[in-house]
Amino acid sequence: MTPRGIKIISKTFTHLMPNKTDLKYKRILFKVSGEAMMGDKGFGHDVDAIQRICNQIILAYELGCEICLVVGGGNIFRGISVAATGMERASADYMGMLATCINGLALQNALEKRGVQTRMQSAIRMDSICEPYIKRKADRHLEKGRIVIFAAGTGNPFFTTDTAAVLRAVEVKCDVILKGTQVDGVYSADPKLDKNAVRYEKMKYNDVIKQELKVMDQTAITLAKDNKLPIIVFSIKGENALCDVLQGKGKFTIIN
Ligand code: UDP
Repeated sequence: MTPRGIKIISKTFTHLMPNKTDLKYKRILFKVSGEAMMGDKGFGHDVDAIQRICNQIILAYELGCEICLVVGGGNIFRGISVAATGMERASADYMGMLATCINGLALQNALEKRGVQTRMQSAIRMDSICEPYIKRKADRHLEKGRIVIFAAGTGNPFFTTDTAAVLRAVEVKCDVILKGTQVDGVYSADPKLDKNAVRYEKMKYNDVIKQELKVMDQTAITLAKDNKLPIIVFSIKGENALCDVLQGKGKFTIIN
């Protein structure tokens, strides 16, 4: 058991327990992409990948963070791609939002199995499955040390879960939004395709917008800019990557 009562399932986990003094951000929103939940599979859920995400979340929890999660749905359904095949965009997007709820439930289950208290709130009412999104309730859950999972994106078609992440982070007054990706920050070009791509340590919101960098969609970046919400982009591949970032260690790009 960890100091906050969480089950330790990995042998390599104990030495990662963080030093609480270095915490840079108290209330955080961690954006978990749908892709991260499928690991190396082409679709759906990979149990080990979900466990690894949970390990990172639990380490951040042990560090003393109040944690919000926004989960994507791209591992199950991406509205825009399906709309391209002829389905009406709004219907496709609603299906995408339902996919984020499936992922939210998977994450909730995996976290609660480890002994962490969570609550899932959905932007689309589904009362027998989870709470509706109510900001004041979310605040209360966070104060009580529960991890809050925000599902169904913004509840509106034509948006993304990145925008939902920024929106919720602003509403519940998170200190930072953390976006875990496959690479260790924002690059001038795709580092997998261009050897000369340069990684930025720091960026201004306007630079991301002007250069049309694909780190988050423009709506999300603009909303973060208007509300002065810092965004940290980092690689989720390391065992305690999230915790490192929260302690100002490791490689990442900060957009502010
Ligand atoms: N979606 C939406 N409105 C929102 C959030 C999501 O319509 O506010 C839909 C959209 O179709 C999107 C899908 O849900 O493609 C899954 O979300 P996203 O692509 O952002 O997930 P991720 O890329 O993080 O896995």
